[in-house]
Amino acid sequence: MNADPAVQLRLLDVQAVDQRLDQLAHRRKTLPEAAELETLAAEHSRLRDAEVVAGTTVADLEREQKRADAEVEQVRARKDRDQRRLDAGQVSSAKELESLQSEIASLNRRQGVLEDAEIEIMERLEVAQNEAAALAAERESVGKTAQEVQAARDAAWAQIDQDATAARAERQALVADIPADLLALYEKIRADRGGIGAAALRQRRCEGCMIQLDAAELSRIRGLAPDVVVRHEECRRILVRTHESGL
Ligand SMILES: [Zn+2]
Repeated sequence: MNADPAVQLRLLDVQAVDQRLDQLAHRRKTLPEAAELETLAAEHSRLRDAEVVAGTTVADLEREQKRADAEVEQVRARKDRDQRRLDAGQVSSAKELESLQSEIASLNRRQGVLEDAEIEIMERLEVAQNEAAALAAERESVGKTAQEVQAARDAAWAQIDQDATAARAERQALVADIPADLLALYEKIRADRGGIGAAALRQRRCEGCMIQLDAAELSRIRGLAPDVVVRHEECRRILVRTHESGL
């Protein structure tokens, strides 16, 4: 294949722009803000799940507390009724009196036990409420951080996209008068060879693979007309001769 040496040199400019585009694409994909946002989203969802569990615990304990209140109230009412009967002097037989007093004593003990249980439930409820509140506050804080990180990510993406648009315009201008077959060859090698299709020959070294050319290859290249498109035997990339090739 043959191409004007100036066109061959321009291929190096295309290569530079393509590398810049590759870097931009890589940066877009590996933006730390994007990874951080994923971590935050996972954390946010974990906290929301924990909050649901804590909320259920609070609701259960509130129900338990109501039940305990009702039980205490029931015992108290029964005790009051017994006490009123006692106070009213309605009980005449000694046996009934003894039975009533014994029931009051028993209700007193029962009330004590129930009130202890009630206090324990209240303490557990307070712990659960505090935990639910702490989870909600943490989730809110994570959500706020996520919003900030998302804004930073979006700004970085916008900047990258803007740079890429500029680079693509630059590339379009550069390839305008590069022959289609040369460009196609370059693209094919670039796809096969890690993004580098054309490299400068500088100081007898291929800048694509960084290997020094041996004497035989240098001599072969020296014998070629300037418009011959040279390929490096080692890496098969297009080797563009420059003023600093050292030929
Ligand atoms: Zn090479």
